Amino acid sequence: MKERRVRFAPSPTGPLHMGGVRTALYNYLYAKQAGGKFILRIEDTDSQRFVPGAEEYIIESLRWCGIFPDEGVDENGKVVEKATEKHPHAPYRQSQRKAIYRKYAEELVGKGMAYYAFDSSEELDRLRKEYEAKKEPFIYNHTTRKALRNSISLPEEETKRLLETTDNWVIRFRMPENRTVKMNDLIRGEIEVHTDTLDDKVLWKRADELPTYHLANIVDDHLMEITEVIRGEEWLPSLPLHYLLYEAFGWQDSQPRFAHLSLLLKPDGKGKLSKRDGDRLGFPVFPLQWKNAEGETSRGYREDGYYPEAFVNLLALLGWNPGTEKELFTLDELVREFSLERVVKSGARFNPEKAKWFNQEYLRMKSDTELAEEFRKYIELEEAAGTAIGYSGKTREQLTDICFLTKVTSLVKERASFVKEFWHLSDYMFIRPAKFDEAVCRKFWKEDSPEMLKKLYDALSGLQNFEAHEIEKALKDTIAENGWKMGVAMNTMRLALVGESKGPGVAEIIEVIGLEETKERIATLINSQTAGLGM
Ligand code: GLU
Repeated sequence: MKERRVRFAPSPTGPLHMGGVRTALYNYLYAKQAGGKFILRIEDTDSQRFVPGAEEYIIESLRWCGIFPDEGVDENGKVVEKATEKHPHAPYRQSQRKAIYRKYAEELVGKGMAYYAFDSSEELDRLRKEYEAKKEPFIYNHTTRKALRNSISLPEEETKRLLETTDNWVIRFRMPENRTVKMNDLIRGEIEVHTDTLDDKVLWKRADELPTYHLANIVDDHLMEITEVIRGEEWLPSLPLHYLLYEAFGWQDSQPRFAHLSLLLKPDGKGKLSKRDGDRLGFPVFPLQWKNAEGETSRGYREDGYYPEAFVNLLALLGWNPGTEKELFTLDELVREFSLERVVKSGARFNPEKAKWFNQEYLRMKSDTELAEEFRKYIELEEAAGTAIGYSGKTREQLTDICFLTKVTSLVKERASFVKEFWHLSDYMFIRPAKFDEAVCRKFWKEDSPEMLKKLYDALSGLQNFEAHEIEKALKDTIAENGWKMGVAMNTMRLALVGESKGPGVAEIIEVIGLEETKERIATLINSQTAGLGM
């Protein structure tokens, strides 16, 4: 079988939506599995919709996900402009391929399969309005083209004159009359569309000498020897035209196979997950944070603290069904196991809670030291940003002490989906509580609490081996010997250590903060409750 070649062909009109990343991912997986090539092509022929920075954003997003194109982007993450052995089809940016397309459009005119059209946009707007008033749709095709200004309706001389003297004309595809286009989609199977429902799409514009999406896309897929086109469902309505263009050029034999991916749906399943949904519903829809021209920032998975592995994994499963219960896949496993046949036809509903679950699973796979390093980096960033975490003295030392951070991490990681949650889950490990939850105090604080806490402390101070299981045993033995209630005693101790009733096991906390600090915390609680009785 010949080499499989697929492409991701985004238009740089803004940040890449997570659905776009999924399209890129499926293309990448398909190519890698087949030992083929994954190509990136920038489709920027619509200069009106061009957004500065979008191209760089797209490439950086893919790199963050671990998706590196074989062709189209160099090692520095730049779109390749000059052909080399590795990138034979450069330039990979359509605006720089401008010179290529006109002859293809003219070729179709020569074959009678396209024609020149001179109607101004005002003329067409007027017609549309007239049709609207009659409650009929206006279609530029065989039903109307003879009454419009084009090389089919006008005398040859006039066409010649207009071509030479005006510069606002276009080349339109001459949609065949009364034909059924039979198409095949790798995900959806057979599809049929009748050509009378379709219009004579513009292929090329004299005004900016640029092709439209349809022409550039077909010509480039042909020249770049693309074997499969895997793209979003929103391009399905263009498929009949694309089939007819391949036919018109006589390229049917090398025509790529098509696979249209279903949409990502909102969490409630009602409608497409749009670019605005993320900020509205409180989760990211973009891989990376994006700041628009107005200075508004949209959140990104990366900045929200997601691991790229988790993001890739969750995207892979939004529309692909592995056919087993398995949910966690590395990129290599996805490459091995992915198949277009198992891509689902229906829309894939996005579940933000499930997205967090994926991140939590990847977080748990990391070692405590790795996570502690990430925790330290997070603290440094927060410090640099001047945002959070007021600390000084001993706390400051602990926050940069990787051993201490590792111990803390091992205790809190089970409760976190993101490293950024560690601080709020563990702040009491660093900072002695100064306030105590009133409801918890009311419930557990009794007259004999000071004595109880002191005795518990005494039991700990005699320990040779200051480890959680020994600490636990000493606490329990002392509680039993004195006939105290286990729940009451442990919760009172927790109140001293944490200030409220959260956190991991009491003995674990004591092991991490140490005997001295435990003594200080007991004293602080007693002071606060007995107005200065002290230890
Ligand atoms: N430029 C199109 C886009 O922005 C490409 C569609 C296709 O893959 O054919 O999605």
